[in-house]
Amino acid sequence: PRVTADQLLEGLNEPQREAVVHEGAPLLVVAGAGSGKTRVLTRRIAWLISERKAHPGSILAITFTNKAAAEMRARVEDLVGGRAKIMWVSTFHSACVRILRKEVERFGYKSGFSIYDAADQKRLMALVCKDLELDPKRYPPNAVLHWVSNHKNDLVDHESAAARADNDLERTYAEAYSLYQQRLKSANAMDFDDLIMTTVHLLQAFPDVRETYRRRFRHVLVDEYQDTNHAQYALVRELCAEDPSAYDAGSDPDAVGPAELMVVGDADQSIYAFRGANIRNILDFEEDFPQSRTILLEQNYRSTQNILSAANAVISRNQGRKPKNLWSDQGRGEPIVGYVADDEHDEARFVAKEIDTLTDAKAARPGDVAVFYRTNAQSRVFEEVFIRTGMPYKVVGGVRFYERKEVRDAIAYLRMLANTDDEISLRRVVNEPKRGIGDRAIACVEAMARRDGTTFFEALQHAEDAPGIATRSVTCIAGFVAMVEELQSMVDAGERADVVLEATLARSGYLAALEESEDPQDETRLDNLAELVAVAREFADEPVPPPSDDPADLTPARPGVPEFLERVSLVADSDQIPDQDDESLGVVTLMTLHTAKGLEFPVVFLTGLEDGVFPHQRSLGDRTELEEERRLAYVGLTRAEQRLYVSRALVRSAWGAPAHNPASRFLDELPDEVMDWRRTAAEQSSWNRSVMPQLPTRRFGSASAKADAEARGQKREVPSLSPGDRVTHDSFGMGTVVAVEGAADKAVASIDFGSDGVKRLLLRYAPVEKL
Ligand code: ATP
Ligand code: MG
Repeated sequence: PRVTADQLLEGLNEPQREAVVHEGAPLLVVAGAGSGKTRVLTRRIAWLISERKAHPGSILAITFTNKAAAEMRARVEDLVGGRAKIMWVSTFHSACVRILRKEVERFGYKSGFSIYDAADQKRLMALVCKDLELDPKRYPPNAVLHWVSNHKNDLVDHESAAARADNDLERTYAEAYSLYQQRLKSANAMDFDDLIMTTVHLLQAFPDVRETYRRRFRHVLVDEYQDTNHAQYALVRELCAEDPSAYDAGSDPDAVGPAELMVVGDADQSIYAFRGANIRNILDFEEDFPQSRTILLEQNYRSTQNILSAANAVISRNQGRKPKNLWSDQGRGEPIVGYVADDEHDEARFVAKEIDTLTDAKAARPGDVAVFYRTNAQSRVFEEVFIRTGMPYKVVGGVRFYERKEVRDAIAYLRMLANTDDEISLRRVVNEPKRGIGDRAIACVEAMARRDGTTFFEALQHAEDAPGIATRSVTCIAGFVAMVEELQSMVDAGERADVVLEATLARSGYLAALEESEDPQDETRLDNLAELVAVAREFADEPVPPPSDDPADLTPARPGVPEFLERVSLVADSDQIPDQDDESLGVVTLMTLHTAKGLEFPVVFLTGLEDGVFPHQRSLGDRTELEEERRLAYVGLTRAEQRLYVSRALVRSAWGAPAHNPASRFLDELPDEVMDWRRTAAEQSSWNRSVMPQLPTRRFGSASAKADAEARGQKREVPSLSPGDRVTHDSFGMGTVVAVEGAADKAVASIDFGSDGVKRLLLRYAPVEKL
């Protein structure tokens, strides 16, 4: 063995050790932030492999993000070596995809099913609502989707939803749910919620499948258990045998015993209720698993006592929680610095200046610093200042790379090559770039597909039979079909993802169309596609884990197109968090509070602490939602190791109009004795509003060249929009332009954001991007 038992237990306190070596009954580790829950879970995996001789393939560990999974895997490999490669460390979604690829044919899906993301879901639901002739005012597609998603998270399929519906509204929603599922299935596609629900249903419907996985996974470990939803909870139960503690080994000698289950979490950090997370899963663990054992951790190793006192003071205002006694032996440390800014620009300048001072004094490197805010739209002001001062930074989330039009087009090409049943993807690219297949031709082909009960692609393959279709369109379609079939043969042969992607972009004429274009935006598009090819190349070059001797091993073999698509479908905001290696200075990380979960930084800025911003406007009148916001504040405060800053702006522009927001109630909840107010509201005076603090321009080698490039690329231009254009907005998501008034800096667009309604936005300020 690479490590001894003593080494595996080194640097752990007594209750942490107990959790690592615990055997048998289900185990719950509940503890406040920074008390070593994730560390314990990681060590336990190493312990299982090294000391208890568990086969690495018999371990299933669930983390909240792909990035956390990669880190956990790397850490275990450091401890016990490369054989740990074959354990499953992944998110719930990735684990379910792996099971489904292997088993889902039993439910009539093909193994190469597509995974629809939020944008695909919206397109599909919009089609469904149109088919049902639903009034979009009464039944906004987004609202219907939300309803469907909630039902899936509660494991309610469309038949049961229909049976339960007891008023017109619900009956209509259920009808949309049912049609939506039909269309997903005929496209051989699943949405994110389906991945979990279908896996649970599969395990419930087929005892032999359930038995296979129960035999395989002898150890199930779940991090961030407080944010599991009902479907995920049910999945854990299915995998571990319904009630592991009631298992009686005597009765059936052939039956497999229950897997050992360990879950770790903190009810005070439950922040995903809006996505269906159910805090009761952690609160009720002891009732759900009656023989279980609970271990509490109380020492925090992350933060100074001042930071902990602040966090404890805030969270203690929530009702009905179990009081915790979290302490640190690191001493009080620095006071928490507070700052009241004139406006959001002043706040950003304060943050930039402070980071500058810290890095000058060698008290921190840019990579030690994180700036948190409540919503993605708030990042822009910080970016402007960081670009101006040459501070290297990275924004995590926002309008993501994979949501850009050209990237979505390229992915849609790959998707329909891997799965021609995927009608949403196929329709997206059939005339992109323009190749003479107009709406009329598509309608003719579609009508024929419906009449004959074939897929859209099958109908395209003999378009000449479609009644009413023009000869010219038939020729264009034949060319398209020939191209698809040719590229498909590459996919079927298992060709590398980057090779297929490049061939597709060239053969489809997509690249040529961008290269010929005069639109300067198209140049950026070419860069983005080059970046996507690079991503695919990196993916295809990744070493493939060695085939294991375990017959139940499901590790996919080749990094071809389907595997690449899977990786792309499952990326999340948190996966873009920059790796900060110890050699370099690193970059400042900007992200929302939700994305910050589980992370830690020496220096943290918690910004926008204003009632209406954080806590969010929506939560102000509702105690439950306000408590969720308070948990989010607790998560934010407890990310800090050494230094913590809290700030707010007296005036913040919202949709082009200045809003005067009162101080966040969370600020009032911070104890006076830990605070050092650099500037209070009383000291604020308007004459200095326009005085820009003198900031030296800094240079951080290549990172600053990047920041400069970003400065050029991201210089904000007012997007030119016309009615019908699709856009995304940082907070409202996808929308359609209904009308535009005025021009240039004065342009105002009315944009329909589905369930969020129609908004009038001054484009100069609104965080919208044309798709
Ligand atoms: P969160 O609730 O935010 O997810 P957590 O409970 O998972 O936090 P960890 O991230 O595991 O906490 O640990 C917090 C920090 O404390 C890490 O840097 C970890 O390495 C360190 N740590 C944990 N336990 C110990 C210990 N016994 N001795 C020294 N350092 C420790
Ligand atoms: Mg953790």
